[in-house]
Amino acid sequence: MASETLETKATLHELDAVLENVHSSQRANRDGAVATYIPELARAEPDAFGLAIATVGGRIHTAGDVEIPFTLQSVSKAFAFCLALELAGRDKVLARVGVEPSGDAFNAIVFDPVTNRPFNPMVNAGAITIAGMLDEIAGDSAFDLMLDRFSQAAGRRLSLDETVYRSEAETGHRNRGIAHLLRASGALTGRTEDAVDLYFRQCSISATATDLARMGATLANMGENPSTGRTAFDLGAVRNTLAVMFTCGMYDYAGHWAYDVGIPAKSGVSGGIVGIVNRQLGIASYSPRLDAKGNSVRGIAAFGMLSDELGLHAFDCTNRGSAFVSTLIDDA
Ligand code: GLN
Repeated sequence: MASETLETKATLHELDAVLENVHSSQRANRDGAVATYIPELARAEPDAFGLAIATVGGRIHTAGDVEIPFTLQSVSKAFAFCLALELAGRDKVLARVGVEPSGDAFNAIVFDPVTNRPFNPMVNAGAITIAGMLDEIAGDSAFDLMLDRFSQAAGRRLSLDETVYRSEAETGHRNRGIAHLLRASGALTGRTEDAVDLYFRQCSISATATDLARMGATLANMGENPSTGRTAFDLGAVRNTLAVMFTCGMYDYAGHWAYDVGIPAKSGVSGGIVGIVNRQLGIASYSPRLDAKGNSVRGIAAFGMLSDELGLHAFDCTNRGSAFVSTLIDDA
């Protein structure tokens, strides 16, 4: 890292202060409820709350519980989609899964009425199809490949939470039902059990808010991990992934999120959210209490505040964001 100027130090200090302030202002927010569909998620510490921001210059800024491991759950869908785009190519992926927001719940059993395809890769039907494609391409090594790329994006070796995986596999009958419908319509062509097994595994990859912010920074940095310099994801695939995260990443809250927060993001039912400020930042929050749509309550509030305070909205018109963040990155 280049030497820090006094001005950069002040900016860094300011960013830490903003994070701290957002964290403490949401700490008392106890709205929502922890997911209970499997015992491991029901046992999550409801008050856990961590925020992390990783820059494309390799810096990390944190507040709160950023080292508590949680399973990625639906957050994995964004990264699995990115991998499928690279391995199968954009056209083949698009032939099997659409890119339209569904406006339905993440586990809805609904398909595009014209094409019969899942609406998008950020809801279960689309993500199971993507898992099926990865399984067709990589077979038995599909999960290792996925874990490898996710780990490269995080900059450290991630692991599978075996207990969560077993619970997901034992209880995932709705997802199996979706897979059979996908097989019947031709969206899935291989064994349905292999597709859902890979999906259950990807949901059960364990990471911390720090890891997730670094994974986000890798997407912000066009697929190259800013800390290790290693390429985790293909550049063209990152562009397509961020576009779909922007329009579909927050389930049936995606429109509201784009309006209020204005950055590509993906949430998961364990309470994680990752957001990307293109070419600038990866942001992660972890807080397991969820709203009725399955998004972290504190996560949504914290992202909203960060977006406002740092000027991160894609259509921000204050100039504050770009000026503030570029100081951070230039001197990293
Ligand atoms: N494992 C969960 C499921 O498939 C993940 C869903 C989510 O995070 N919203 O139902």
